[in-house]
Amino acid sequence: VRRARRAILILLVLGVGGAVISTAIAEYIGWSGRVKCEASPQHRFVAIGGKVVWAEDFKGAGWRCLSWTVTDRDSAAAAQYEYDKPVKFYSGHLDSSYLHPDAPETLPRWAHLWDPADWPPEQKEYVYVPLFTAADMGVGWPLPAFTIYWDTSGRNEWRGGTMLATPRGSGLRFWVWRPIARGLLLDSLFWAAALLVPVGTARSLIKLRRRRRGACTACGYDLRGLADGALCPECGAAGRVASAPA
Ligand SMILES: [Zn+2]
Repeated sequence: VRRARRAILILLVLGVGGAVISTAIAEYIGWSGRVKCEASPQHRFVAIGGKVVWAEDFKGAGWRCLSWTVTDRDSAAAAQYEYDKPVKFYSGHLDSSYLHPDAPETLPRWAHLWDPADWPPEQKEYVYVPLFTAADMGVGWPLPAFTIYWDTSGRNEWRGGTMLATPRGSGLRFWVWRPIARGLLLDSLFWAAALLVPVGTARSLIKLRRRRRGACTACGYDLRGLADGALCPECGAAGRVASAPA
């Protein structure tokens, strides 16, 4: 019972430790300003609800930023044509038959673009410069574990976190509190496994020190003077006495 209780306690410490580390890393990435939705994104076009979500997909170590807008199929086709060729500006007519949408799996489930109810209000006129109207940022390592949604359409509101001031040259800075269930779980498992190494090493060192000073390796009770092979009178652990010095 004692051993089972200890194993459960260790698992609990590892699990909580893993979750704390995952959260701390995500907050640090958001706070540090390294999330930059600026250079060389992947352009993705995913058909949703009769419209096309056109997302600029930026990635870095421990973060992903999707800045996206919702547009009609013709405009999306023209935009996709430009990025395919690439040409600076396509002035001719291009109908939606050119459009070859990307697979939905190319965009993460945690973004707000999947449900038309979450879309920012429609822009009055189509702005051709890739000006994003909403952005979803995911932070965490190895996987994004928390996400913040920023509606930049003019309402300028955010959900799942709060934006901080950005000094010159810095990327976006924010605190984030909306967890991505799958990402947080997998990151926590990853860091819990990583914690096994120092926890295991510390436990081995404690046992080694107890053995050297002739104590029970399980509980640390002084076993000097007891017969070889005797049970520990304190915790009942067996066979720990043999190597105890006289
Ligand atoms: Zn003992």
